[in-house]
Parts: sequence; C-alpha cells; structure tokens
Amino acid sequence: MDHLVELQALVGASQVLTGADAEAFEVDWRERYRGRARAVVRPGSTDEVAAVVRYCAQAGIPVIPQGGNTGLCGGATPDNSGQAVILSLQRLNRVRGIDTENDTMDVEAGCILQSVQQAAREAGRLFPLSLAAEGSCTIGGNLATNAGGTQVLRYGNMRELTLGLEVVTAQGEIWHGLRGLRKDNTGYDLRDLFIGSEGTLGVITAATLKLHPLPVARCTALLALDSIAAAIDMLARARAGLGPALTGFELMAGNCLQEVARCFPQQRIPFEGASAQLPWFALLELSDSESEAHARERFEVVIGEALEAGVVQDAVIAESMAQSHALWHLRESIPLAEKESGKSIKHDVSIPVSRMAEFVEQTNAALQAAFPGIRHVIFGHLGDGNLHYNVARGADWAEGQLLARQDDVYALVHARVHAVGGSISAEHGVGQLKRDALPQFKDPVEMALMHQIKAALDPQGMFNPGKVLQAQ
Ligand code: FAD
Repeated sequence: MDHLVELQALVGASQVLTGADAEAFEVDWRERYRGRARAVVRPGSTDEVAAVVRYCAQAGIPVIPQGGNTGLCGGATPDNSGQAVILSLQRLNRVRGIDTENDTMDVEAGCILQSVQQAAREAGRLFPLSLAAEGSCTIGGNLATNAGGTQVLRYGNMRELTLGLEVVTAQGEIWHGLRGLRKDNTGYDLRDLFIGSEGTLGVITAATLKLHPLPVARCTALLALDSIAAAIDMLARARAGLGPALTGFELMAGNCLQEVARCFPQQRIPFEGASAQLPWFALLELSDSESEAHARERFEVVIGEALEAGVVQDAVIAESMAQSHALWHLRESIPLAEKESGKSIKHDVSIPVSRMAEFVEQTNAALQAAFPGIRHVIFGHLGDGNLHYNVARGADWAEGQLLARQDDVYALVHARVHAVGGSISAEHGVGQLKRDALPQFKDPVEMALMHQIKAALDPQGMFNPGKVLQAQ
C-alpha cells in the first residue's frame, strides 16, 4: 500500500509535503535537532486530523504533532528513520467564537498566539500569554508545552489560562471537551493530562481559553542592580507595593543586554556610565486600570523607595508606549542575540526564589572551576522563579569544544538545581533534550505513573515516540 497516496486522499494532494518542501519541518528552531520524516501532513479540520491518526494507527506509522516549530527541546523533530509523519496543525487556524459574557474564546490549535491576542483585544479582552516566539508559535504548541512567558506572575501559565480542550486520541476518536466552565468536578481532569504532554498522549485540535479585562494602561521600568539578592528584594517590594498590578518581573544579566546591543546596534541600553556596566537588570511591567499617569505614579513611589534604600542603583521608567516597547524589545531580543552568537547550552530551570542567589553564585563558581573561561548567559522570569541559565563558550574555547562536553555541563547544572529543590524544566518541556535526565530527578513512583498513563492512552506508542519518556 502506498501510504503517501492514502494520506493524500485524506487531506488533499497538495497538503502532503515531502523532500525539500518538508525540510523546514524536520529541523528545530535552534537547529540542534534534525531528522527525516516520511512526509509532513497538513490536515485542514479536526475530522481530517482524526482520519490521519486512524490511518497511521492502523498502518503503524508514528505521528509527531507540530505547531509553529518554535519549541526549544526538540519535541517536534522526528528521528532519522524516515518512518514518522509530521502532523502539522498550522491549517487549523480559526477562532471559532468569543463569548465576552463568559470571558472565554474557542480557538483552533494552529492559531498563531499573536493572532489570538489580537482577536481577544478586538473583543475588548486580554489573552495574557506572551512570549518572544508569539509571532510564530501556535496555541496547540503552547498547550502541549504548557508555555509560560512573561505574564505568568499575574495570570499563570497556559494551564491556568485554559478551560477546555478538543483532542484527537490515539484511536482516532475526537474528545469534545470545549467547556467554558470555571468549575467542573466530574471526575479525572483529562484537560490537565493533555496540557504539557508534548504531543505524546493525543493531538490537541482546539481549546477554550480564559480571557481577562484589558488593562487601561501599561507602564514599564528598567532597573539597574548590583546583585541577584537586590533583584529579589525588589521583587518583594514590587509585589507588596503594586499587588496584582505587577504583571511582569524579568531578570537579565548585564552581559545579555550588552550582547543584544552588539548584535542589533539599533537597540541600546538606556543607562550611561557605571549604571550601564552593572551586572543585573530587571524589567518590570505594571498594568493599571486607571491611566498611564497613574501607572507611572505608582511605579515612581515603589521604585523611588527602593532607590533611596540602595536596593536599586538606577532606574528608567518608560515615558510612552514606544519606550515601553523598546525596553521589552531588549528583553525579547536576548534569545535572538544568543542564537546569533553561536550555539549555547541551555537550561530552563525552576528554583525557589529564596534560593536563587545561592544557586547562581554556587553554580557559576562550579562551572568556572570545571570549564574555565565559559560565559554565563542568565536571564529569565524572576517573578516565577524561572531562570534561563545558559552556558556559552568563552573566547578561549574553539567552536564546538564546549558543545562536545555538553553532557558534563548538563549534569553539573541539573545536580545543582536538584540540590536546591528546583526542576530541570520550568516552561520549555522535556522533548528529547531532557528525556534521559528526567528519571534521575523525578520520583520513581511519579515516573512509573507517567509510563502507565502513556500506555493507557497511547498503547501502540504512536504519538511522538522518543519524546519525554524513554522507551520501556
Ligand atoms: P512546536 O515547537 O511545534 O511543538 C512543541 C511541542 O508541542 C512538541 O512536542 C510538539 O509535538 C507538541 N505539539 C505542538 N502542537 C501540538 C498539538 N496541536 N497537539 C499536541 N501536541 C502538539 N516558551 C515558554 O514557555 N516561555 C517563553 O518565554 C518562551 N520563549 C521563547 C522564545 C523564543 C524566541 C522561542 C523560539 C521559543 C520560546 N519558548 C518559550 C518555547 C515555547 O515552547 C514555544 O515557543 C511554544 O510554546 C511552542 O509552540 P509551537 O507551536 O512552536 O510548538
């Protein structure tokens, strides 16, 4: 049987891509993983997704769900066998409906995050998930990785923003779970099982998302700090002084901002002299229900007190939306500057905020002792205890020399994360990148339950094999 012909019959000949047309789908965003697929199949509806899954189940073809392909753990990249089908959800991109009284919207999995934010805004509501890949990542990928981003501090991650799901199961059945209910205690929570499952349990085809009131005004401030301890002190002050109006608190090492300014000369660090050379910067966002002037005043009080107390060394409060955007642009350009500067070893770790300073100080020292001269590239969502703790080669290291030792770097950093009660994946997921590390750090009972859930929902192991869990 010619599988490609059968798949073409299900979705249309032009929606089954092979050869050069499939190449962009076979490599991940960071170009760390490259595989080979039998084909990329692009269904246009939930029924077509179900038909493709039924066909693949019966033919024993592995299925790899893919959205915008911006994931950072190789979760949407096939292996080299050429057996799997990449199931691209990009054509399922309709907003099915917005219910402003219920503050919910139903969207299909292939909707680009930015277009969902835009549709919510046009309806006078806020969909708060926000991350640097929002122009190309999809709601399905955000759900499958339980994405976080820059507003988690106030609104929670994707799990907290989702009320219902529509999912195609491994049997090719459709679970119609698009419920707009805040309360529904009718048994096991299947929604929460599929969110964060990274395409290993089912294909998410649509979701009911929670909406929030649109803030009247937003204000952004960039603070220059001399230590992480000072940043944590400032976080506590901002939380106490601003309450739920504090919608973002990002931490960035000074060398990250310097790298952005070097790679993208149109961007500049808005401090002069010694302040521009300080080791840490924090980006704060305040969402206000009155006015921009009111937002600025609130910032001025809290930041002014911190300046007086010597917690903050210098501060810029944006005077306009354009300035706010420029400050956010600095933060969002860090991963792009990192990519420009060559391959680094990334860790997306979760640390109790109270142990963050100790973690960074001790892990930096241990890394320098083991790999002298490496560069630390540290930034992240301090308000959520989430650091992107990345390691790049120093001037003395040849291209590829550090990457050749990446397993030793991972082992050192992950051990330190574990020692302070953290998690080796805060928001990017496991994919293939952290699959083999997982059993070392997770409770054995938890690992066994995860394998049992996988076997129950996907007994053939057809969905995204080799991701999240090792084969048993
Ligand atoms: P893909 O990369 O296509 O897939 C990711 C995983 O989800 C894969 O395992 C795939 O199999 C699965 N999947 C995709 N769609 C479906 C579906 N419909 N059903 C079932 N499984 C599916 N993440 C954060 O959490 N916070 C950040 O701040 C953040 N910033 C980022 C910045 C940049 C510049 C980049 C490139 C990435 C960033 N990410 C961040 C990573 C993040 O995981 C993704 O951007 C996004 O959530 C993935 O969406 P996607 O549509 O690209 O998914």
